[in-house]
Amino acid sequence: MKIIMLGAPGAGKGTQAKLIAERYGIPHISTGDIFRANIKAGTPLGVKAKSFIDQGLLVPDELTLELIMDRFSAADCADGYVLDGFPRTLPQAEALAKSLLEKGEAIDFAIDVDVPDERIVNRMSGRRACLKCGGTYHVKYNPPAVDGVCDACGAELVLRDDDKPETVAKRLEVYHSLTQPLIEYYGNAGILKTVDGTQDVDKVFADIMAILD
Ligand code: ADP
Ligand code: AMP
Repeated sequence: MKIIMLGAPGAGKGTQAKLIAERYGIPHISTGDIFRANIKAGTPLGVKAKSFIDQGLLVPDELTLELIMDRFSAADCADGYVLDGFPRTLPQAEALAKSLLEKGEAIDFAIDVDVPDERIVNRMSGRRACLKCGGTYHVKYNPPAVDGVCDACGAELVLRDDDKPETVAKRLEVYHSLTQPLIEYYGNAGILKTVDGTQDVDKVFADIMAILD
């Protein structure tokens, strides 16, 4: 099963993608996590990506596509994957469709986690991220068992540099102009499913399972 998570930054794509990946035994592929791992490791890709990410801008398509296309050929992708944060532009969606078509494959579902902008800032300011395993928490809505420590791998949780309110505003602006058009794109492709992302994490996941099962 091949799934794309759509939605604004902070809508809960990563939170739901992790649950989907666990339940269906497919990898969770987050371009944001891959960029952050590269930034942490100080790779040339990470250095280039950081300048865009810190400003709330998208990393250029060319760089993003180079990074992600390689990932699909890994053995763990044989039974599908859940994509979180990719594609984020029409050219990325078209490049993905083209590469899948060449292999006779296609995306099964594009799930839009719908959350209005006014809820997003609150979610981002309370978000705490694990840069080691990609775990995502919220100080109020989804706290870890031990304050500041990742439940899954025990690493320290951090407030992401790009979750500052001024950067979040820019990211929302970029989302509406470059990423939101993908909702229509996947709607036209007949694979769009929308879930109400303002509900509790468990309820959002139940709605997603009802679509996928
Ligand atoms: P995205 O991957 O779309 O950027 P995340 O999954 O990282 O979003 O979620 C953003 C923040 O909101 C995190 O702190 C997360 O714990 C919290 N969150 C996710 N889903 C919900 C929900 N349904 N209700 C409340 N908070 C949520
Ligand atoms: P995320 O973890 O999905 O919130 O992504 C964090 C940041 O990484 C985004 O604000 C972008 O700057 C960058 N990024 C992640 N995925 C992509 C993508 N598919 N295309 C361009 N930039 C991306």
